Amino acid sequence: MSTQPKTNAKLHLETIAVHAGVEPDPVSGAVMTPIYQTSTYAQADVAVHKGYEYSRTDNPTRTALQTALAALEGGRHALAFASGMAAIDTLLRLVKPGEHVLCGNDVYGGTFRLFDKILSGYGLEFSFVDAADSGAFAAAMQPNTRLVWLETPTNPMLRLADIAAAAELAHAHGAWLAVDNTFASPVLQRPLTLGADFVVHSTTKYIGGHSDVVGGAIVLNDDEAYARLKFLQNAIGAVPGPMDCFLTLRGLKTLALRMAAHCRNATLVAQYLSDHTAVSQVIYPGLDSHPQYDLARRQMSGPGGMISFILHGGEAAARTVARETRLFTLAESLGGVESLIELPAPMTHASVADSPLAVDPGLVRISVGIENAQDLIDDLARVLSRVG
Ligand SMILES: *Cc1c(COP(=O)(O)O)cnc(C)c1O
Repeated sequence: MSTQPKTNAKLHLETIAVHAGVEPDPVSGAVMTPIYQTSTYAQADVAVHKGYEYSRTDNPTRTALQTALAALEGGRHALAFASGMAAIDTLLRLVKPGEHVLCGNDVYGGTFRLFDKILSGYGLEFSFVDAADSGAFAAAMQPNTRLVWLETPTNPMLRLADIAAAAELAHAHGAWLAVDNTFASPVLQRPLTLGADFVVHSTTKYIGGHSDVVGGAIVLNDDEAYARLKFLQNAIGAVPGPMDCFLTLRGLKTLALRMAAHCRNATLVAQYLSDHTAVSQVIYPGLDSHPQYDLARRQMSGPGGMISFILHGGEAAARTVARETRLFTLAESLGGVESLIELPAPMTHASVADSPLAVDPGLVRISVGIENAQDLIDDLARVLSRVG
């Protein structure tokens, strides 16, 4: 089924988020897209159907979600997957054995694990290079580079990469640029408009926004690559169920409102942390102490909801803080309405412990939710007074 956005490209993102993909149900007039909880579809005659044959191939709830995701990123096509990792794995099937992928060296731990521990065993070559160092990154391109893979901002160091420059670099070598836009969300940054060929999301995070569903997506413009990826989506079958599509579609309607609240709260929390004597370093793209503050201002329309910081008391202090906050729940993941806290080294980034991506064991990462900012600051103040 077509995932062409029905909404007008001139509409603003807040409007697109509410309306894209959602048409009143033709049978009942239901305003919200029903959860089409069906695996198959009756055919009027042999091989005569309404565009739906089997739910691995297409499902109307998934079609609505895909249309909305394409519209949010300003792309022609979107494909939804059972998880962010399923989306990434399916996209990497565009790269053939013997071809090379140049990847930022500070990517999501699961992405590194997939590339380094699994796909490299199938003849794909990977280099992991600091994408913030444009000279070193450009020098790592090879004659057989097919794909450049970026995450910006990265997890958990919140480093930025210049998307437009990376797109130029990739295209000059006949390669594609894929950007994992999970941390920024399309509200803060739209990589396709900066020249990227593919945008990837873990919709589990900001797009879903409520920590109640796992999902992933690929958004793109190119019709030929879309046809291939649509074939792969069906052939591999890592698709989301209709209930998951419904939850993600419900979540993304408030994406613009939530991102504004995440940015506002995280800015206040980051300022509070930078002034605190127990804190030695705060990493947040909205602080002018961030080494790429200018790029953040240029490339993103807001600094996002993720903050990483290091305490003078090191790992022991970090563990105390992570254990004792009350409003910040100790948990992996990010991007939900509720605030979360974690230590990347022993938690989300345990899979990269012995790799070049290993992180400081004392690093604390917080996902700042949409609660009242003062309540969040009070929660941090209480625990920081114990470690300062
Ligand atoms: C969570 C995440 C992923 C993986 O997505 P899942 O939905 O957990 O499979 C990929 N990239 C980034 C940046 C993430 O935060």
